[in-house]
Amino acid sequence: MSSTAFKSGAQLSNQTKTIWRMVQFLVWLIGAVMLTCLLFFPAIGILLFWNILIPIAPFIFVVALGIWRNVCPLATTNLLPRHLGLSKRKKLTAKQIGILNVIATFALFIIVPLRHAVFNRSGLATGILIISMAVIGVTLGFFYEWKSAWCSGLCPVHPVEKLYGGNVFMSMPNANCENCMNCVIPCPDSTPNVNPLSSHKTEYNVLSGLMIIGGLPGFIWGWFHVPDENNLTNLENLFSVYYIPIVGLAITAIIYYNLDRLVKVQHKRKLISLFAAAGVSCYYWYRLPSLVGYGKFPDDGLLIDLSHSLPVWTVAVMRIITTSFFFYWLVIRKPNNQPWVIRPAFAKKTVLN
Ligand code: SF4
Repeated sequence: MSSTAFKSGAQLSNQTKTIWRMVQFLVWLIGAVMLTCLLFFPAIGILLFWNILIPIAPFIFVVALGIWRNVCPLATTNLLPRHLGLSKRKKLTAKQIGILNVIATFALFIIVPLRHAVFNRSGLATGILIISMAVIGVTLGFFYEWKSAWCSGLCPVHPVEKLYGGNVFMSMPNANCENCMNCVIPCPDSTPNVNPLSSHKTEYNVLSGLMIIGGLPGFIWGWFHVPDENNLTNLENLFSVYYIPIVGLAITAIIYYNLDRLVKVQHKRKLISLFAAAGVSCYYWYRLPSLVGYGKFPDDGLLIDLSHSLPVWTVAVMRIITTSFFFYWLVIRKPNNQPWVIRPAFAKKTVLN
């Protein structure tokens, strides 16, 4: 029997690993406190989760996604079976990961409008949603290798990460995978300037890529034109939260699809960046004003009402700053060849003679 080492990547020192474990534990505790608040003190939980954490998340995805990929409390939970040696460590095929990505993208487009119907008003429902995702993630963690099944597969946030995280500021060390097992190819964490179409091995990868790149900007625009539904007495009210986001999604998806056919191969990456910038800019265009009391629907998504002290023109300033920033960051700035996290050393491959 002989062993052959694959190419080695960066290996964390024990000290660095300990620091990352401490940070992961701290963020996990913050997540646990948030979840407890959602379940037992819903007003505080909703404020912390929907009006503080979620509005910050897209900015982190654009600038330093590697930090989030290392400390996401759901990932920390889901990877426990792997860290404790309880995972069967199976590998998914490219087709299976592609299917998971399609389901994740559909799940995103189904769950997010439900905020207007249920989650924005119910800490319990939001808490159950998070617990359900953790249960699914941990279950997958018992069977599949590292981040393949959840973090890079079924997590509904992952399609957004791949769209927004295409030109991060710098790569972080990989604080999760001890050795790289090549469990996802290409690995979204370790691929420089990754995008939702970096993997186009199967029609499922292409479908999820097209849906998130083309559909997200219109979907976000539509989402902000739907008020929270306080009177959920029938199915029609429930479906009403979907109409405008789905129409928006369809319009921008068709625009993207046609532009993608028109532009030359060398400009396709730029087109993806344009749609990524449009999506995240649209989000902050509406979200920042609503946080401070200038929302289209005044009470929806309010963090602190500053509408009596902040002059109206500050809304325009916020919008100009955020939109300029994201278009500069994602479209004008040169791709810097940085992955979200640095791939750890490949595991040793055992070869039978
Ligand atoms: S770094 Fe390697 S082991 Fe970790 S998720 Fe990526 S491919 Fe899998």
